[in-house]
Amino acid sequence: MTDTSDPIDRSGLRPRYWETVPLDRMTQKEWEALCDGCGKCCLNKLEDEDTGEVALTRIACRLFDDSTCRCANYDIRHQFVPECISLSPKNIEGSLYWLPETCAYKLLWTGKPLFDWHPLISGTPDSVHAAGVSVQNATLPEFEISEDEWEDHLIEEPLGCD
Ligand code: SF4
Ligand code: SF4
Repeated sequence: MTDTSDPIDRSGLRPRYWETVPLDRMTQKEWEALCDGCGKCCLNKLEDEDTGEVALTRIACRLFDDSTCRCANYDIRHQFVPECISLSPKNIEGSLYWLPETCAYKLLWTGKPLFDWHPLISGTPDSVHAAGVSVQNATLPEFEISEDEWEDHLIEEPLGCD
């Protein structure tokens, strides 16, 4: 079921601020509003030991809610998933290698524009799901799949950008 409510407050932001304000000069609210809700950073990844290449799997973090495509307990998530990374201008550079190609933080950090389906442009978080970019209703819970089977569940990146 699609959830049309947006948990991120995108009201009262400077018009098209993401085109003019550098990531490290944004307000916290502007920074948070960049997240498109695709859910792909909540997927478990596999890293090739030799090349360092990272592949996304369909196996989602234990706190990920597949139907809403969101963290089920975002505010206190670190109590359950201490390794969950809070993206910030300080750690974005070191996170680029594992972030999905469509992630708004990665796009902007690498000088690319946001896609038209981004909620800041479309005005609705549903456009991310409609564009086929999110992993809504497409993940498997990590407690159901043993880690040595994760490689059977790799997904192609980028999703929905053809
Ligand atoms: S990959 Fe980026 S845009 Fe997508 S949910 Fe994660 S932080 Fe947000
Ligand atoms: S704790 Fe929440 S935000 Fe962090 S990876 Fe898991 S589902 Fe995503």
